[in-house]
Amino acid sequence: MNAPVSLKPNGIVVDLPQRRLQINWNDAAASVYDFDTLRRACPCAACRPWIHDMLTDATPREISDETRNAVGELASLQDIQPVGAYALHFNWADGHTSGIYDWNYLRALAETAT
Ligand SMILES: [Zn+2]
Repeated sequence: MNAPVSLKPNGIVVDLPQRRLQINWNDAAASVYDFDTLRRACPCAACRPWIHDMLTDATPREISDETRNAVGELASLQDIQPVGAYALHFNWADGHTSGIYDWNYLRALAETAT
């Protein structure tokens, strides 16, 4: 996974009713995520062990039921916020609010989870 250091979005489109997020990258690629996928890929301390395996190991360990069955709910567009110029942050309705999704991670997720 060798994303260029300069990878970043040219545009981010959020479809709250359809619970989808699209990122248009500066290398002309586009990634579409449903909120459930994003929530289940939450890189916060509680979910991160699974994520770490997904992106680094050939044989992932057991995924907790909480993470596997998590539903990605966002109350409003304000629940998606930029972190500096390098990441997005989501205030998931189930309380997972500390995950930082940086651009390389989101790109890798799109290529791994879909
Ligand atoms: Zn989490």
